[in-house]
Amino acid sequence: MLQLAGIAVDATSVGGMETCIQLPGYKMALDIGRCPRTAVYKDSVAITHGHMDHVGGICFHAATRSMLGLEPPTYFVGHENINAMKALFNAYRRLDRSRLAHHLVPIGPGETHPLPGGKLLRPFRSVHRVPCQGYSIWSSKQKLKPEYHGTPGHELARLRREGVEITDTVEAPELAFTGDTMIEVVEREEVVRTARLLIMEVTFIDDRVTVAEARSTGHIHIDELVERADLFENEALLLTHFSSRYRARDIREAFKARLPDHLYQRVTPLLNGH
Ligand SMILES: [Zn+2]
Ligand SMILES: [Zn+2]
Repeated sequence: MLQLAGIAVDATSVGGMETCIQLPGYKMALDIGRCPRTAVYKDSVAITHGHMDHVGGICFHAATRSMLGLEPPTYFVGHENINAMKALFNAYRRLDRSRLAHHLVPIGPGETHPLPGGKLLRPFRSVHRVPCQGYSIWSSKQKLKPEYHGTPGHELARLRREGVEITDTVEAPELAFTGDTMIEVVEREEVVRTARLLIMEVTFIDDRVTVAEARSTGHIHIDELVERADLFENEALLLTHFSSRYRARDIREAFKARLPDHLYQRVTPLLNGH
């Protein structure tokens, strides 16, 4: 379990093999490639896109939760994949002769869905070979308007009773997860650059695969990350989805050699599975 920018992350992600980012503090997971055992206990899963290494475990997740008597899970899925997802569950229901109870929530960029604990889930557009959306999670808090600072509590209570708005809603992006994407998402989506924790794919980390080849498969190459090193305002970055051809040492050495120090200090490469 990692603690990054104050957020607990239990992640596994190997390009083409399996991606599942578990967020115990939010009781949810982002993608569910092969449904790791512990992911069964996450009440909701947000799906970035339809590739098998990101969505393959979804029916298994629903079935195992039902077997264990857990609440039906919620799945957040892009509008363009809702019909295919319904068909997938219907096929499994026929095979399994079970209900596979769950809630399917269609959601896309520009929309917001409330999460437990007053958080907000907001998709954004990633750029991949197939339709893909990243997810950001925002905190939303009521803060006293500056003009009421120093006002005694009983006075504030009276104003509130009279229906006076004494607070502002302050939202802040706690986390952004790109799913599979090309580098353009960094420039296009402010939340990618400003979320406290950014979880982003960097599938290719040396010249065994060129930038052009990386782009033709809809992924990020380390060269493209290095070129944009100054754009990231994030407190921490978890970089994921490295191709299975790389060993952990290759990845560690590539980051050390290539990333400027101010970025390197904030980066954690996800190395389990390598
Ligand atoms: Zn993938
Ligand atoms: Zn993909």
